[in-house]
Amino acid sequence: MKSGVRYTGIPSEEELRASPGVPSPERLEQGPVAFIECVQEIPCNPCEEACPFGAITVGEPITNLPVLHGDKCTGCGVCIAQCPGLAIFKVHLRYTETTSLVEFPYEYCPLPRKGDRVPCGDRKGDYVADGLVVSVKNARGNDGTAVVAVEVPRACCLEVRTICRKEYR
Ligand code: SF4
Ligand code: SF4
Repeated sequence: MKSGVRYTGIPSEEELRASPGVPSPERLEQGPVAFIECVQEIPCNPCEEACPFGAITVGEPITNLPVLHGDKCTGCGVCIAQCPGLAIFKVHLRYTETTSLVEFPYEYCPLPRKGDRVPCGDRKGDYVADGLVVSVKNARGNDGTAVVAVEVPRACCLEVRTICRKEYR
């Protein structure tokens, strides 16, 4: 079976490894950082406009893949809700001794609440691990795109990208 975003809608590991929007392992160790998992050359650039620190470049032509400048990214998370493709996440690798914080866009009901334990899923929505909801931001200016942060076991922070809707209703 063919893999990759063109065939499945989900970026493959190879596509993510080659993506200029994914931070280096060294940058990930340094603190919270954006993961721009945008691997298709589409005409789009709100992420570039959204970042107040100039940490995302699309440039010309507008179909360039977004580039993350890890040295400029403060991990503020402002870009997450501004991506119409729901392709931007944030990972704080060393949130505690054993856990990481993963932040993702979420457009489903019901919205979780702070303190909920939720089943977390990977990019396909398949269950990975339970997580603790640390925050839910649903700013009016974000057009219904909430940003949910979940604390998860560190070993799965590069897999968790959503809440499993099959298990969470
Ligand atoms: S997390 Fe903040 S600083 Fe980093 S790319 Fe997004 S908007 Fe820019
Ligand atoms: S806004 Fe989202 S979909 Fe558009 S270029 Fe940026 S990361 Fe890709």
